[in-house]
Amino acid sequence: MGDETLLLALLNSAPMVDGVPRDHLVDASAWLADQGRPEATDSAQTLREAREALKAVVRGQATPVALNPFLTNVRSTPSTTDDGLEWTLDDTSARSVVVHAILAWDELAKKSPGRLRACANPDCELFLIDRSKANNARWCSMAACGNRMKARRHYRRSRQAP
Ligand SMILES: [Zn+2]
Repeated sequence: MGDETLLLALLNSAPMVDGVPRDHLVDASAWLADQGRPEATDSAQTLREAREALKAVVRGQATPVALNPFLTNVRSTPSTTDDGLEWTLDDTSARSVVVHAILAWDELAKKSPGRLRACANPDCELFLIDRSKANNARWCSMAACGNRMKARRHYRRSRQAP
């Protein structure tokens, strides 16, 4: 759960605000602090590169091979628990936040395929994780994009009416 939130926050860190692109990663330390992560791990450049790679993969514009550069030398260490083995990611590297986000993407893709998707508003840069039973959510948020797109369709329809 925690890492899913992180993944979505990373994907959504470059929103369009009133038609102007913004980038929350301009201040990477502040962004990391907002996510409750150590401030001195991933650099703004690493976070940005991983964000663009993840966006392309989620949109189907790239294969997961695009994530390879962020995964070299990533290691997990096993330890025993009462139930068996528990794997702990070595997250002391300069890519730990990015790696957590990529692992969350992988888990989501396997556990809930197709649930992570881009907002259906072509002017919106945001992504959503559809947790609805019907799996038919299309907007990052109904308030921000759903109503706007519905209003636009309604406007078009009313103009086409004879
Ligand atoms: Zn949207």
